[in-house]
Amino acid sequence: MLDLLYKLAYNSCVGCDWCAEACPWSPRYKPRERLQGMVEAVEACTMCGRCVLKCPLKVPTHKRVYEYRTKKGIVHEELTKIRERSEEIGQSFGIGGSEWAEFAKSKGFKVDERARWLFLPSAFDVLPNARLDLLAELWVLDKLGYDFTLSSKHPEGYGNFIFDMADPDYFKKKALEVIKTAEELDVEGIIIGECGADYKVWPRLHMFIGIKAPFKVLTFPEAVYRRRKEIVVERMIEKRVGYHDPCGLARYNFVTQEPREIIKMITPFYEERGPSERIQMCCGGGAGVSFVNELKRKAVETIGPKKIEQFKGLDLVLTSCSKCKSMLLTYTLLLRGGFNVHRLSYALAWSMGLDVPAP
Ligand code: SF4
Ligand code: SF4
Repeated sequence: MLDLLYKLAYNSCVGCDWCAEACPWSPRYKPRERLQGMVEAVEACTMCGRCVLKCPLKVPTHKRVYEYRTKKGIVHEELTKIRERSEEIGQSFGIGGSEWAEFAKSKGFKVDERARWLFLPSAFDVLPNARLDLLAELWVLDKLGYDFTLSSKHPEGYGNFIFDMADPDYFKKKALEVIKTAEELDVEGIIIGECGADYKVWPRLHMFIGIKAPFKVLTFPEAVYRRRKEIVVERMIEKRVGYHDPCGLARYNFVTQEPREIIKMITPFYEERGPSERIQMCCGGGAGVSFVNELKRKAVETIGPKKIEQFKGLDLVLTSCSKCKSMLLTYTLLLRGGFNVHRLSYALAWSMGLDVPAP
């Protein structure tokens, strides 16, 4: 029944192209070309959902793209190769072992122990060059009084496998393993690290695997916001700071004010730069674009200049998604944006006194 309703929705497109300008890929690709199954356009879609906001008929183009990818196998060939290796190893970047968990343990954080919360890191956090970002997240949660553990079996929340790798079956298998681990550890919920793909799937798990998570699901900024009274700021960021809303957080989960309130606690120089909040424009890294060199090059040409324009004149852009950070950093480096990019967790940890280089 639901499939039929979606089919009707896709077929209701009247070709007006009101959505075209809203797409970060404009003028290179139009959402309508994706509805029609144009391969290049489908491969490059980040499934950010911005086009839907502008469509008078609310045609869910991002959902159609998801179907093309998962049911018809329209996935960039580079991504297919990455997927094979990722599935073999069990991690989006193909990083094996639990060295990341050993690192967390060496810093005094719980791993594989009973706790009230299970923390799922972002897929980027387990990369050797992302240790400080992982440390910052864990340190902040600990300072705010969260009793949490990591599981050495789960280096991420696997959301990348569903959107980027277009493999819902593999995601389901891994999600069920996370649920089993959470039940064994007897946690009351999971806290999702700064990952846009996990933000998209975990709060509405039933839509993707037909099973509701039998525990609470909190995104990282929500977890911090809940305990904001415990934040003790030791040093302020004396720079012009902006914020990029990850689409998985702002558009999919309506989490827009929480990160802003946190940022305003750590800098007197926050500047709102639109388009923002629910109508924010995607960084271009979602749904596998950041994994595929050819697509990333196109994103630098098409989406990069728009994000540079948005944040022109700022010193620092914060965001609460590891993938957004990676894309925005690429743009500012290659297109000389003049601003630095950090994750919200890192900037907050530094402000609260963690001994890491200033953001
Ligand atoms: S990239 Fe975003 S705005 Fe463009 S078609 Fe895909 S979902 Fe729509
Ligand atoms: S998806 Fe909506 S806005 Fe875009 S062309 Fe079709 S009807 Fe028009």
